[in-house]
Amino acid sequence: VTGYLDDCTCDVETIDRFNNYKLFPRLQKLLESDYFRYYKVNLKRPCPFWNDTSQCGIRDCAVKPCQSDEVPDGIKSASYKYSEEANNLIEECEQAERLGAVDESLSEETQKAVLQWTKHDDSSDNFCEADDIQSPDAEYVDLLLNPERYTGYKGPDAWKIWNVIYEENCFKPQTIKRPLNPLASSQGKNKENTFYSWLEGLCVEKRAFYRLISGLHASINVHLSARYLLQDTWLETKWGHNVTEFQQRFDAVLTEGEGPRRLKNLYFLYLIELRALSKVLPFFERPDFQLFTGNKIQDAENKMLLLEILHEIKSFPLHFDENSLFAGDKKEAQKLKEDFRLHFRNISRIMDCVGCFKCRLWGKLQTQGLGTALKILFSEKLIANMPESGPSYEFHLTRQEIVSLFNAFGRISTSVKELENFRNLLHNIH
Ligand code: FAD
Repeated sequence: VTGYLDDCTCDVETIDRFNNYKLFPRLQKLLESDYFRYYKVNLKRPCPFWNDTSQCGIRDCAVKPCQSDEVPDGIKSASYKYSEEANNLIEECEQAERLGAVDESLSEETQKAVLQWTKHDDSSDNFCEADDIQSPDAEYVDLLLNPERYTGYKGPDAWKIWNVIYEENCFKPQTIKRPLNPLASSQGKNKENTFYSWLEGLCVEKRAFYRLISGLHASINVHLSARYLLQDTWLETKWGHNVTEFQQRFDAVLTEGEGPRRLKNLYFLYLIELRALSKVLPFFERPDFQLFTGNKIQDAENKMLLLEILHEIKSFPLHFDENSLFAGDKKEAQKLKEDFRLHFRNISRIMDCVGCFKCRLWGKLQTQGLGTALKILFSEKLIANMPESGPSYEFHLTRQEIVSLFNAFGRISTSVKELENFRNLLHNIH
């Protein structure tokens, strides 16, 4: 794909240059650090939408959780830390609340922290169903040891998930058929045209919603083509680029123009997450904010690298303007935003229905990451209380949100880089 993207003022080439040479290498380094590689997730939550007890038996779908001694104590001890002292107070508050303690029994400092802490109850801002990481079923997973790649999860089970996502959650009436949908009975050029005239007729927010989901779908499919199981013998297992798989999914001719459209949606998703990261910079710049693992030197170095990356992101010249969304009549905009939020939350719940655990892990992480990006973009607290110039203590992100936000963006950034790799491979073939 080349050229300008719809609904924004940016082009593919500018993103390629910025991502592949400036951002991607540094981001990869950050994501290899202890703070970002360990993600706590509950992969055993039952599917809330249909009864499905079947377990996927594909070898490459398995996820290996961490042994308890693998994860640094600093990460395990609580879900979030600004600093060790602040965190002790939060623990005290949590305990006080569990015990139903009355205010007078708390120290003055704790009372202050309780106030601060309740302000952090920002569930109305959330675009994602929070995973119950306190559940005994939740486990830490080392993301570096469980990479997103080809798993062999495909066919009607995978289609059913994508279908439910698009059909029931992308504001789409049933009469409009998605092009090339393998679960639809008959296909034809006319139907495709109807789909795109429907999409173009939507308000920009609903169109954006569809684009984000399609971008995520495209990104997953780029990854499985780039880390494909090329050879599987008892001697060797080899993963790498599968150009044919990539072409079948994204070639303009083979996909009747759908592939390039989907890749443009991937770039659109990139821009949305990029803008959220640039906007949240002051939150991470707060002097007492730590990427706490318990290793002081490493933690300080990581924070420096994180800020370097965020400053780089801020300097990107063609940021998406989120003010173009939810901008009309106040009441209508509010209702639309609420719809947007509820649909997105639904999608995060559908991830518990994905039969392949590896796909479920990365599906959950990426929807949570995108949900966090949307929370940042549209949070009233952030808008009202975090002017670009100064830090705010009202806006809050949990460790889980931070880890998923950066890892999700890391996935999209890797996809953009992989598109360059595929371009080079295709160039060499021809
Ligand atoms: P699918 O990708 O299943 O798509 C179904 C239909 O949707 C297509 O026929 C097409 O009409 C349409 N479509 C396809 N792409 C787009 C798009 N970008 N925008 C709009 N419409 C589109 N497989 C792995 O190997 N590794 C993984 O990590 C992995 N993670 C997954 C995570 C989730 C949440 C899900 C639901 C699936 C995952 N899969 C993964 C499976 C993978 O996404 C495909 O479903 C599978 O490879 C079968 O591909 P397909 O070509 O039949 O079409």
